[in-house]
Amino acid sequence: MNAEIIGVGSELLLGQIANTNAQYLSKKFAELGINVYYHTVVGDNESRLKEAILTAKKRADLIVFTGGLGPTKDDLTKETIASELGVSLVTDQQALESIEAYFEKTNRTMTPNNRKQAIVLEGATILPNDYGMAPGMGITVRGIHYMLFPGPPKELYPMYESYGQAYLAEKLDMKEQIESRVLRFFGIGESQLETDIEDLLDAQTNPTIAPLAADGEVTLRLTAKHGDVVEAHRMLDEVEKQIMSRVGEFFYGYDMTSLQAELIATMREQEVTVASAESLTGGLFSGTLTSIPGAGDVVKGSIVAYHTEVKHNVLHVAKETLEQDGAVSERCAEEMAVGVKKLTGSDVGISFTGVAGPSKQEGKEVGTVYIGIAFKNEKTRVYSLKLTGSRDGIRKRTVNYGIYYLLQLLKQ
Ligand code: ATP
Repeated sequence: MNAEIIGVGSELLLGQIANTNAQYLSKKFAELGINVYYHTVVGDNESRLKEAILTAKKRADLIVFTGGLGPTKDDLTKETIASELGVSLVTDQQALESIEAYFEKTNRTMTPNNRKQAIVLEGATILPNDYGMAPGMGITVRGIHYMLFPGPPKELYPMYESYGQAYLAEKLDMKEQIESRVLRFFGIGESQLETDIEDLLDAQTNPTIAPLAADGEVTLRLTAKHGDVVEAHRMLDEVEKQIMSRVGEFFYGYDMTSLQAELIATMREQEVTVASAESLTGGLFSGTLTSIPGAGDVVKGSIVAYHTEVKHNVLHVAKETLEQDGAVSERCAEEMAVGVKKLTGSDVGISFTGVAGPSKQEGKEVGTVYIGIAFKNEKTRVYSLKLTGSRDGIRKRTVNYGIYYLLQLLKQ
């Protein structure tokens, strides 16, 4: 099956948003073995959308639209497709009821144009919208499959996962179950990880192994196809075991988790509390942790100790340390971690000091970073890093390393 994805929306053409829906759907279609040959983007304009449909009809068996299903005048995807395919538009009673219920639940008054969102192509299979109002659709006309999805990714992704994929699998007459699992790694570069599992990558067929690197972490998406879902899981377990035997020390979690979510969960489990002393990161560490629900049970607080006076007066970093070694030093990181632990009575004190750039500091290169971890009564550990990249990138990666080191320590 060959597919074309048509993004509808002038915002896309104006560069106000990126076409991440097409990226998402392309990845999903690849998992199903559907070839995506074209991504098209067209503004909210009826005649140009018509032209795009005409062109797509000549070259695709599956045409997928995203966007333009909303209540306003410029949302014209359904209307244009209906006229182009010679299909009528009808009100879907169930969709209308769920829109009415949505307004009732949110205590808002429904305006007449919202009824427009319940209008669907006659004969289409409705893909319910669990996170918004406009339903999606699937319809086959003269041998070509059409699917329509709403524009907002937070509506489209769950709609595809809950209803769209099953609809497509049926159209493709797929007897096989597709199961996937994401393994997340930190502290290892993409090229090193790929080298370590090169033979597995070269030999992959089913399950497939797809590496992806972003934000200093590397993920591997494993996808297995089998008629029996239990067998598909067994196949995933098997390849996961092989991968873990090579690079397991860098693994930190599955699927949609994050380093910070794993750390919060582990600290809650072990009933360990943390406080941070942040120079280089200026509060970013505690900001990152407190974005996770449940952080209140384990995060005691944070001292942003940007100036040396604060390091000395509040955290009690020794004057000699600041004068002899400097604020960007192993000894300063150690004393900051011990200081904040004492000050807050937490189990862990973690500190961050370093040079984020753009220029050198105390004669130390940009990217020089020290992270101190004072854990209970153990000897304070100090990790030193040499990071590269922008000021913002260095600060973010410093936080990620801090979370990773602490997580490793707790898991030991
Ligand atoms: P609504 O019911 O919210 O009006 P819609 O189906 O009419 O949804 P649009 O109005 O076209 O969709 O887009 C709504 C929002 O969805 C956009 O402002 C944008 O944030 C997001 N969006 C639309 N198309 C895309 C796309 N191709 N990739 C990523 N985001 C998109």
